[in-house]
Amino acid sequence: MKYVVANIKMNKSYDEMKSYLMGMATRFSNDKVDLTIAMPYTYISLGKFLLEESAIRVGGQNLSEDEEGKSTGEISGRMLRSSGAENVIIGHSERRKRFKEDGKSINLKIKSALKNRLNIILCIGESASENKLGKRSEVIREQIESAFKGLYENELDNILIAYEPIWAIGTGVTPSAKEIGAVVKEIRKIISDDFSTTAGEKMRVLYGGSVNGKSIGQIKNVKGVDGFLVGGACLDGGEFLQILNNL
Ligand code: PEP
Repeated sequence: MKYVVANIKMNKSYDEMKSYLMGMATRFSNDKVDLTIAMPYTYISLGKFLLEESAIRVGGQNLSEDEEGKSTGEISGRMLRSSGAENVIIGHSERRKRFKEDGKSINLKIKSALKNRLNIILCIGESASENKLGKRSEVIREQIESAFKGLYENELDNILIAYEPIWAIGTGVTPSAKEIGAVVKEIRKIISDDFSTTAGEKMRVLYGGSVNGKSIGQIKNVKGVDGFLVGGACLDGGEFLQILNNL
């Protein structure tokens, strides 16, 4: 099974989202792909309604660290789950940068998602400068270890890790298949060191960053990669379906 997460980010009006989802619901059919569309909060209920009869899962793009109450403007895990989301992206690099989400905050969000029975897509990845300075391994280890602090091994069954080098997001540049393979191996080693070899082997690891109709050919068969997180190339249903049908 390949896992694919479409990250709609902050795109599409209500009507545009409605026709996109209706198109995806009728046209997506690939029993080798487990597909989640991670949508803005305001479209979650619409997503549940329009995707109910399809195999596509509804996902959120973030959630609050808090459970309830004094957090004006925030959305809790309970709200997401009860509106129809099954999955949620946590720790996307755009949020880490813009909203200063750090390891501690991401750890709290993961715990809240687990409490509310949401599966998690944890995004990790180094910046261009960290990559140039040879800090990739260090950054990845720190991001995983701070995110998973205090978790029980069985909770990892509800988590997927998406390796998204920041320099590859929206740039049209992707690491080579060899590099992706090496990072995925490192991710599994970190999980093995901190939990168990079985946990390292079982962890589902995705790649994200400029996955599109052109790049997918070179990266779709990288050993150890269980799927993809797709941003820009998911926005056009036709283009996205071509990628999905090709997996
Ligand atoms: C992303 O932002 O998570 C992403 C994968 O974007 P893109 O596919 O546009 O690089």
